[in-house]
Amino acid sequence: MGETLSRTVTQNPDLRSLECIRCGGHQPVGDHPRGCPSCLENGTPANLACAYVPRNGTSGVPLPYEGAPSLGEGGTPLLRADLGGDVDLRLKWEGANPTGSHKDRFSAVVVARALYAGYETVAAASSGNAGVSLAAYCARAGLGCEIAVADDTPAHVLTLMRDLGADVVSFPEAGLRWRHLAAYLGSRTVLPVTNVPVPPVGSSAFGIEGYKPLAAEILAELADRVPDWVVVPASRGDLVWGLYLGFREVCGTRPVPRLCLVEPFPRVAAVLRGDDPHGHFPGATAVMPSLAGNTVALQAVEAVRRSAGRAEVVVDAAAAAGTRRLWRSGLPLEPSSAAAVVAVDQACGSGAIAPGSVVVAVATAHGLKGM
Ligand SMILES: [Zn+2]
Repeated sequence: MGETLSRTVTQNPDLRSLECIRCGGHQPVGDHPRGCPSCLENGTPANLACAYVPRNGTSGVPLPYEGAPSLGEGGTPLLRADLGGDVDLRLKWEGANPTGSHKDRFSAVVVARALYAGYETVAAASSGNAGVSLAAYCARAGLGCEIAVADDTPAHVLTLMRDLGADVVSFPEAGLRWRHLAAYLGSRTVLPVTNVPVPPVGSSAFGIEGYKPLAAEILAELADRVPDWVVVPASRGDLVWGLYLGFREVCGTRPVPRLCLVEPFPRVAAVLRGDDPHGHFPGATAVMPSLAGNTVALQAVEAVRRSAGRAEVVVDAAAAAGTRRLWRSGLPLEPSSAAAVVAVDQACGSGAIAPGSVVVAVATAHGLKGM
């Protein structure tokens, strides 16, 4: 089926190259799982971003590919969250996506890329949501799917991936999954779509484009009012960087919202204080596996810096308490997502977010998968 569908996928004719987010060098349109080759050689890996021919007077966000099978991703509601604070807080309810997380936006575009370029299988490292999402989109498109997981991945998540047709390979530690994906570099049949190098760069630049419509949807829901803050849970920062790219396009000459990156222990927060971004950041999380990892990708730091944003650390106990509170308010979020709401509370308490601000917290994933 993948071969038949590949004929329906088109590449945006305005897509002209991939541009390094660090050095600005351009690469031909293609798959670069290790990011910019020059920056990689210099020991400072950096992701690439899609560069399009500028079009004056057009609105909307360009995407690299169209015509792949959709499961109805995107267009999620922006819920008012009357949680007692003195800010106008909205939740971008990404749990309403087909497999219950924002990853469906990424999967739709990388699967389109895989079909367009003639790959047979998509491979990814995942702690859960991305794997389930990719498995569904690959199955829908008739592509093979291989998910590299860590041995501590919950059994019911593995069952979901396998029931959706994915091959699951398991490794004793999360970092080994990236080494496994590196074996597919240069393959003409298997496309790795999540991070490969260490230090990391992040996931496929094409997939990250799939997050841009979030910015357009948020602005539309707010009657074109640019929110003061958008609060985003992050590990390697695919989502926060995609949001930055989207807001940059839809805000025009106006400043983009300040992006508040949420993490379980200081990583980006440490880099913003002057730590080496290519270092190892000690810490762990037992309740937020989506936000785990001891490294930083440049794209996460850049999203915060370029938006004049900040990083907020939410520890496990606070995320767990916040999750319970949200469920009892009828908002079943996974702890990694509830952490965004906790971060808003903390940042309001410290004065980092001013009273009266319009704040959007991205509720990245539904909590039901974790039950
Ligand atoms: Zn570069």
